[in-house]
Amino acid sequence: MKIHEHQAKEVLRKYGVTTPRGKACFTVEEAVAAAEELGGPVWVVKAQIHAGGRGKGGGVKLAKSMDQVRELAGNILGMQLVTHQTGPEGQKVRRLLVEEGADIKKELYVGMVVDRSTQVVCLMASSEGGMDIEEVAAHTPEKIHKVFVDPVAGLTDAEADDVARKIGVPEASVAKARAQLQGLYKAFWDTDASLAEINPLILTGSGDVVALDAKMNFDSNALYRHPDIMEMRDLDEEDPAEVEASQFDLSYISLDGNIGCLVNGAGLAMATMDTIKLFGAEPANFLDVGGGATTEKVTEAFKIMLRNPKVKGILVNIFGGIMRCDTIATGVVAAAKEVNLHVPLVVRMKGTNEDLGKQILRDSGLPIITANNMAEAAQNSVSAIAGN
Ligand code: GDP
Ligand code: MN
Repeated sequence: MKIHEHQAKEVLRKYGVTTPRGKACFTVEEAVAAAEELGGPVWVVKAQIHAGGRGKGGGVKLAKSMDQVRELAGNILGMQLVTHQTGPEGQKVRRLLVEEGADIKKELYVGMVVDRSTQVVCLMASSEGGMDIEEVAAHTPEKIHKVFVDPVAGLTDAEADDVARKIGVPEASVAKARAQLQGLYKAFWDTDASLAEINPLILTGSGDVVALDAKMNFDSNALYRHPDIMEMRDLDEEDPAEVEASQFDLSYISLDGNIGCLVNGAGLAMATMDTIKLFGAEPANFLDVGGGATTEKVTEAFKIMLRNPKVKGILVNIFGGIMRCDTIATGVVAAAKEVNLHVPLVVRMKGTNEDLGKQILRDSGLPIITANNMAEAAQNSVSAIAGN
């Protein structure tokens, strides 16, 4: 789960990370009132959307007067902000963060993720802050310093100081950088984060070290331990189809292709998507209905897939283990009738009650295309949508 910058900063402040003073706002009036309350000569008006790259997209602006705060807040609120992470359709801005302006001397990068190969938290730091870290990694990987943090010891003073010096923090500010790094690590650890990133972490003219931007993602499987973070969820930022699917306990991810997939088991779902690609088409979604899917769940899954206008055909691929083929078949038939299925449907079933399932499909009178193996299922799907 992702949260907004202003929420991530709130979390980080609890762990001693220094951020600019600021306030989240939902209207122009609130933005002006926030700027007045903050005081000072310069403010930053920042679009709050879950995607990064807002600065380049015009979602982060400096204001030097109250009139400018009003004008910028009016421009940014409600805009369809396009960044390299939103896709061409962009994301609507519904809230702002108004902050006191910062005196930036240097922009640095620090971020944490779980490293899969070593299975520990990896701190990445770079002198190249404020820009895309992916670009730095691709073109100047030597400018990224990594620390693999021992889970028992945590991020030690020595490690934090060493990495701070490597990214160009002057001696007088090393202790301040250490506090930021250790706060970031503690926040990451305590909240079961999957990503915690400060880009840029800045050095100010007076030698302070301040988190100017903040991004945190969390492991959804651990959210039950963090009701305070769960409350920060903003459904407006999420794909409506994915939100709806999660309410039915379906693992659904929207993709760009045109063959909808309904599969039981994440591994089989991945293999199904690969097979579709192998035969030259693209999946419209990842969908794992899980091991214990009911007819109701399958019906919902069908509705969610079919609401996607890009879907030109559906491929159902079921291995009947815990999930019985007749349950799926009943769900598929019920769903197809309820939604007035208007696209070709290919079904491949193997396992428990396979024959019963196939019988249910045949008896339905629906024009269902059956397949005996995955390759055939994918091929049939691809040819069924050809020309549509
Ligand atoms: P992002 O583009 O979504 O990552 O948004 P950021 O919060 O990182 O802002 C992008 C850039 O705007 C930063 O790298 C800074 O260069 C600039 N910026 C953000 N806040 C301030 C500020 O208070 N003062 C100044 N001068 N620039 C800022
Ligand atoms: Mn940033």
